[in-house]
Formats: sequence, C-alpha cells, structure tokens
Amino acid sequence: MQNLRFDNSFVRQLPADPESGRHPRQVQGALYSRVDPTPVSAPRLVAHSREVAALLGIAEASVASPAFAQVFGGNVLLDGMQSYAANYGGHQFGHWAGQLGDGRAITLGETINAAGQRWELQLKGAGPTPYSRRADGRAVLRSSVREFLCSEAMFHLGVPTTRALSLVTTGDRVMRDMFYDGNPQAEPGAIVCRVAPSFIRFGNFELPAVRGDVALLKRLVDFTIQRDFSELLTGDYNDADEALRAEWFAQVCERTARMVAHWMRVGFVHGVMNTDNMSILGLTIDYGPYGWIDNFDFDWTPNTTDAQGRRYRFGQQPEIAYWNLTRFANALVPLFTSLEPLHAGLQRYADVYDASERNNFAAKLGLAECSDEDAESMRSLYTLLQAAEADMTLFFRALSGLDMHAPTLAPFNHVFYDEAKREQNEPGLHAWVVRYAARVRRDGLPPAERRAHMRAVNPRYVLRNYLAQQAIDRAEQGDDAGIHELLDVLRRPFDDQPGRQQFAQRRPEWARNRAGCSMLSCSS
Ligand code: AMP
Ligand code: MG
Repeated sequence: MQNLRFDNSFVRQLPADPESGRHPRQVQGALYSRVDPTPVSAPRLVAHSREVAALLGIAEASVASPAFAQVFGGNVLLDGMQSYAANYGGHQFGHWAGQLGDGRAITLGETINAAGQRWELQLKGAGPTPYSRRADGRAVLRSSVREFLCSEAMFHLGVPTTRALSLVTTGDRVMRDMFYDGNPQAEPGAIVCRVAPSFIRFGNFELPAVRGDVALLKRLVDFTIQRDFSELLTGDYNDADEALRAEWFAQVCERTARMVAHWMRVGFVHGVMNTDNMSILGLTIDYGPYGWIDNFDFDWTPNTTDAQGRRYRFGQQPEIAYWNLTRFANALVPLFTSLEPLHAGLQRYADVYDASERNNFAAKLGLAECSDEDAESMRSLYTLLQAAEADMTLFFRALSGLDMHAPTLAPFNHVFYDEAKREQNEPGLHAWVVRYAARVRRDGLPPAERRAHMRAVNPRYVLRNYLAQQAIDRAEQGDDAGIHELLDVLRRPFDDQPGRQQFAQRRPEWARNRAGCSMLSCSS
C-alpha cells in the first residue's frame, strides 16, 4: 500500500472552504471542505475485490495486513492522501434541494496506477463532514454490503459503474430507524471504499449555477474537461472554447444514455435517480435503495420513499435520465451564448439511447440487427412478460435454448411466479415464440454463434434482492462467507457455474414482500 502514488488534482486546482471543522454549514464559493475520516473502534476487513486491488496495484498480502483495515476503515491516512468532502447540490424527486454535499463520503485522494490511470479512493460512512446536516456520517452494514456487491456485480455485467475496493466493519453501532416508524435500532456500522476516475456529479455544477457563481461554475467545468475528458482536447485548447464545452456536454449525454440502456438490459433499477446521484462520467453511482427485476415489471420501484409517485420505476429510467440532463443543461446555460448546443446535446441523448436500446434488443434476442419490426416485437414481449409475471433474467437466459425448428414454451417452465397469470398469457407467449423462431431462422446466424452472443448479454446470475439480503442476514450474525460466495458467483455472471443453481432461481415466495428483498428503505 505504501507504493500508492497520489496526485490530488481536485484539491490542488479547485477552491477550498476556508473554514475548518465538521460543524454543518453552507459553503459558498468553494467546491469542497477538507475533512478527515473520524476514527472507528475496531476496523475489520470483511471482503475486498481482488480485481480492484490489482487495478490499484495493491498486493493481496497488503490487503491481508492489519494496516489495510486501518486505512480503509478511516483510522490512518497514507502519505500523500488529502481527504475532503465535495460540495454539491441536487434535484431530489423533481425538486431543487439546495446544498447537499458529501455528508458521509470522504475522498482520501487520487491515486495513479502503474498504467497511468487516475483512481479516486473514497470512503463511504467515514464520519461527519460539514455536509452531514443533522445526520451521523455513518453507514450500516446492510447498505454497505449492498453497495460493495452491486458495484462489482455491475462491473462484471459490463455496466459502467463506480467500483468497490473493500468492505470494512467498524466495530461501532449505528442507530437507524429503518422503516421510519419511530423504532430506531442499533446496527453494525461499516465503510466501503469506492473507486472511480471521478465522483463528480451533475449536482456539483448545479450548486454554483443556482447560486449565480458563474466564475466557480466555469472553473469546475474547465477542470472536469481537462482532467476527466482530456480526449476531447486538441492542441490549440483554450478554455473559452464553446464548441469544446458543447461536445463535452454531448459526451455526458451519450454516456448517460449508454449507462441507462445497460440498466434496462440487465433489469437494474437505481431507485434514487436524483441529480446528485448522476455521475458526470456516466457511471452508475450511489447504490442505495436500488433493486433488480425478478418478475418483469416496468412499474416496479424498489424504493419505499418512491412508492407513491413511482418516479424512479424501472420503465421510467430513460425519461428520468433525460430530465436530469435537462437540469444539468440548465446549470450550464451561463457558459453558452446560445441554447442551441445544449439542445443538440440532449438530442444526442435521445439518439444514442435509441441506438443502444436497439443494439441491446438485437443482442438479447440473438439477431444480427434490430429492425423496427423487431423493436416492436421486443416491446410486445415485454408486455407479455409483465402480464404473465415471468422472471426477466430466467426468461432471456432460457430463450437461447429454444428449439427454433419446433418452438414451445417448455424451456420456460421455471420462469413464472403466478399460475393463473401464466395460463392466461400462454397463448400470447406461444404465438410470440413461434414468430420469434421464424424470425431467427430468417436471420441466418449460425445457431452456436447466436447462442454464444445471447449468453454474453443475458446473464445467468444477477444480484437478486433476496440473495443480497441472505448474505446480509448472515453477515449480521458474524458470518461473512455468504458475501464472499455471492461476490465470487457474480464475477462470472454469464457462465453456467455448476453447483450454484441456487443463485439462479426465481425469487422465493417468502421474499415477495419482505423488507430488503422487495422494498428498500433510504435509511442506510
Ligand atoms: P443519498 O440519497 O444517499 O444520495 O443522500 C443524499 C444526501 O444525504 C447526500 O448529501 C448524503 O451525503 C446525505 N446523507 C445520507 N445519509 C447520510 C448520513 N448517514 N450522514 C450524513 N449525510 C448523509
Ligand atoms: Mg447520493
């Protein structure tokens, strides 16, 4: 670990809060506050990602050393680390929420790995910051297990995401009222070390814009382009270049479109798509009350806080991402002489989303290309899956096994949740597979190739909500093995893993309405 090199460009190049200390405050004219993690009593490493450790150049022997848990539990800073909490705002559930900031996330520094890549290391749950408002700056084990596992699961599924290096329990208890019903409980505390090239969010730009601090906004935009979008820079770079800013905005739109299209491919529902949870790099960020689709349902939201309006339901994610980009565009208005480039960027979102969705449809169905008719067919399939309460992951995995010369519903026997709904929709589904098989026969991809394509985009294993909850239940009893095994399964989500059928099953009935399995609270 001592070999980690740091180059802390964010704190070096951007203005800091002149005040020190952790007391809650409004921070004007600055993009971050310097703050150290608050020490914990007994940091213990529960799990780590060996891929992320390797990426950072941290040897497995270092991971196993007591010093590792001290650093990634927030008790010790390494030479070169300069810890801070970022200042940002955001639109929450459609409304401007003012200053938010890193209330419990603390960046330790930006490390440069052997390949020259920049990786920001950030502890989540490391104690109070000036942005904690009345909260404690901590995180509980259950939400930390979920963030740790899902970050890595998403990466292995090919979805753009922040990564997770480590999961450390603190030895301290944290009080949480999980159901917001006046019954707070003491829960084990934990800290995840998140890793990404940048944790800048739309909300980092919105806050100075709303405050009318155009100079600060411009500094952050210039910094972000130079550090995180350097591929856009040409030799004669000048920071008044509106065309460059326009292309940067369009790139953010493109990346956001690709990210959301991936979510729709794998059945991921973020649950809190507030603009403070939207990464400028188009990475999935801030794993809170997210969930995975079991029975296909565009209307499902995992977040109990969202149960009324269902703003963040599965099927609405593409529209919400667009809306969030309009908020981001709005923040950038002062940096443009006309609105035209911002409109063009938003149009790029729509175009790239459509193209990505088509690619995903083609890949999921094993077709060389997706015509208008194929897209229609996919939409009608989704309607059928929803009406029939069919499991999304199991259905698409089984689809590659359909006999294209004698299609029946036999391969799908195990995918339904409700007998009556299944029977009701069998004729529709049967007609669909017959049409689909004919379409596949016309397409002419060699069958083995088609199956391989389909199996590379339709996972066998996803982080089903109840699987995460089972691992959490065990971890809360002091047994970490469930986390390790789940992490290992999710490292190869597209491979059939013998002996691990229990990770590729329908959600059991007991989990249908259980907290943590179908309903997730924001309390974390
Ligand atoms: P989230 O919805 O998790 O993205 O959080 C929204 C805002 O609340 C962010 O500014 C977080 O830093 C802050 N926050 C959430 N939980 C805590 C906590 N336990 N302590 C301090 N701040 C928190
Ligand atoms: Mg957040």
